[in-house]
Amino acid sequence: MTDSMMGITERTNRVLESIAEACARAGRDPAAVTLVAVSKTQPVEAVLQAVEAGLQHFGENRVEEAEDKIPAVNRASPRPLIWHMIGHLQSRKARLVLPLFQQVHSVDSLRLAVRLSALAVEAGRTLDVLLEMNVSGEAAKYGFEAAGWQSDDEVRRRLWNEVEHILALPGLNVHGLMTMAPIVADMEQTRPVFAQLAALRGALAESFGRPLPELSMGMTDDYPVAVEEGATLVRIGRALFGEG
Ligand SMILES: *Cc1c(COP(=O)(O)O)cnc(C)c1O
Repeated sequence: MTDSMMGITERTNRVLESIAEACARAGRDPAAVTLVAVSKTQPVEAVLQAVEAGLQHFGENRVEEAEDKIPAVNRASPRPLIWHMIGHLQSRKARLVLPLFQQVHSVDSLRLAVRLSALAVEAGRTLDVLLEMNVSGEAAKYGFEAAGWQSDDEVRRRLWNEVEHILALPGLNVHGLMTMAPIVADMEQTRPVFAQLAALRGALAESFGRPLPELSMGMTDDYPVAVEEGATLVRIGRALFGEG
């Protein structure tokens, strides 16, 4: 085994242990949490080492980068892999996503949802998606405006309208919600953001009678808290591939 191979195996085991510990603290089943290895900026060889270390789910945030990398990794992988698009996607690049990715976490506008649905229908399939919510209210964040959804009727009305429209699109299977927490010094400060996403999921699921089982939340700096708050997909880059 090479040094870098040992590195990724060790780091993967460490992350899986932290997830299991967070599940134990929250009384959750670790099998309910999927580790998505964020392989953005990593070369094909590094991703293949992660595959050898046992990882199956990978996340990319730029279509341009994924276009060459995903087919190359898939060709060399001994097992089928599942690819998650996790970054902001421009509508004009939406067409490229369908053949590459099994799931899109970053559906952040009605316009993009309509476009992806049309492309899926055209391709004779459906696409699994999550709706990205901006629950922290940070101006720099992508996502549906969701800050204040509990107290602000206008925010709630607009958000509910958009979600209702998206749930009716024929090409999309909406499995849940995704968010990015603000970057903070202490991961404990992210807890209200993750709790808000979980609560919003509950409210939308009840309003529309749809389970919305997936919550994509938590990255290297905050995933233990996200898992405690109900994450079913954690998107982790640096803790697996190193700080680079
Ligand atoms: C890069 C990225 C991650 C992973 O970040 P790390 O801090 O390296 O774990 C997760 N989600 C998105 C959307 C990203 O762009």
